[in-house]
Amino acid sequence: MSTKTESAGTPSAATQRLLRAIPKVDEFLGWLDPSSAVPAFLVKSAVRQLLESLRQDILKGAPLVPADLTQKTLLPRLCQLLASRLRPNFRTVINGTGVVIHTNLGRSLLPEAAMTSLLAVGSRYSNLELDLTTGKRGSRYSLVEDVLCELTGAEAALVVNNNAAAVMLVLDTLAKGREVIVSRGQLVEIGGSFRIPEVMSRTGARLVEVGATNRTHLGDYEGAITEETALLLKVHTSNYRMIGFTSEVSLGELVTLAARHNLPVMEDLGSGCLLDLSRFGLAKEPTVGEVIRAGVDVVTFSGDKLLGGPQAGLILGKKKIIEQIKANPMNRALRIDKFTLAGLEAVLRLYFDEQKAIAAIPTLAMLAMPLAVIDQRAKRLRRLIGKELAPVCRVELKTIASMVGGGSLPEQPLPSRAVALAPLERSVNELERGLRELALPVLGRIEDDWLLLDMRTVADQEVPLLANCLKEIFEAKNK
Ligand SMILES: *Cc1c(COP(=O)(O)O)cnc(C)c1O
Repeated sequence: MSTKTESAGTPSAATQRLLRAIPKVDEFLGWLDPSSAVPAFLVKSAVRQLLESLRQDILKGAPLVPADLTQKTLLPRLCQLLASRLRPNFRTVINGTGVVIHTNLGRSLLPEAAMTSLLAVGSRYSNLELDLTTGKRGSRYSLVEDVLCELTGAEAALVVNNNAAAVMLVLDTLAKGREVIVSRGQLVEIGGSFRIPEVMSRTGARLVEVGATNRTHLGDYEGAITEETALLLKVHTSNYRMIGFTSEVSLGELVTLAARHNLPVMEDLGSGCLLDLSRFGLAKEPTVGEVIRAGVDVVTFSGDKLLGGPQAGLILGKKKIIEQIKANPMNRALRIDKFTLAGLEAVLRLYFDEQKAIAAIPTLAMLAMPLAVIDQRAKRLRRLIGKELAPVCRVELKTIASMVGGGSLPEQPLPSRAVALAPLERSVNELERGLRELALPVLGRIEDDWLLLDMRTVADQEVPLLANCLKEIFEAKNK
């Protein structure tokens, strides 16, 4: 076998014996059920991956013994590898972070009405671009435009891929090659490297910063207006809050100033809620309707933040300006698909009845959820796991704070309840990693050596699944 010349790196005799003891590919294949539905190429590549990792372990001097290279130990490893390859990459998780609008976990969950609509439009033909009254080609935007206008009082509306796209499209339409005046306190980074100054330079608009970081006055805007000015822009600083000696110019004041100079005013509202959330004890955010009533020419916001719908960028405003934006060829590159439209229309229609909206739209329901309901869920989970986990893990209920997330309402902790876990035989970090790597991953957060599972963002029907995940993780360890 080893006819190669010996060199300094030649493995020891013991290592070579172990290497020779690794079963051959065909042996592995012989252990598997030949009637299995797993495609042969997947099996072979999983076997090769396992062989290679064994070889590497042995060469690195891992303390393996021949018993580690038998069917009894290797077959379960192979099956595990196969299972992970057959699993979809994109799958559901349990959100125990308590962050309601979690950008990494898919932001808003769609209400049932929206899912029904998605299913219908996805599996059947639709009037996506057909005007059923005239029989002529229609516009996909008209499917949600009237609903948006009725809900907010806007004259016209348009929907694109997301709010970042909406901001780019508006700036490209109204301010390309010209100047846009923005307060220094509003030059924000949203995350994912979306920064207002950079977006602006991409569209060819020139940024004119006014005021100081903490204070901007109406006179600052007025002094910066020149013949080159195309737009006054207000950015809702939704992901951070300035406190102390601060002042901002109100939208109403900006609108009055702009009117005197015959300029349009735009607001990037970010979250864009349609309801006043202060009744749930959250800070007062301007609603889209209020912004429209204040006389803004164009406002943009996300579909999947506080609105609770699918990813989308909504652009609302004066008819003349929206028409201009609709005519921008860039619009075609940023257009939304039929699924987004179906989901969005269904969500928007729920807003015609506010009580219905709060009950049916998961994002709103989770924000408005009474502590007593969260507490019941936490107790239910503890009941389901308490006895079984007692020998291996401390399980307690803790009062904690959930976050709204999605760059919405910072500094707005919502009182919540968590099931807190402190494993006895491993570190809390190991537990966190184990839960994250399950077939149904569970995400929580670590605080003071406890893994917290905030029950605000765990749905009722997920509680038994979560209990099973927790049992699974501790069983695996005990084997
Ligand atoms: C979130 C946010 C954006 C980006 O919106 P997406 O829908 O994520 O593209 C832009 N501006 C503000 C103020 C935001 O809060």
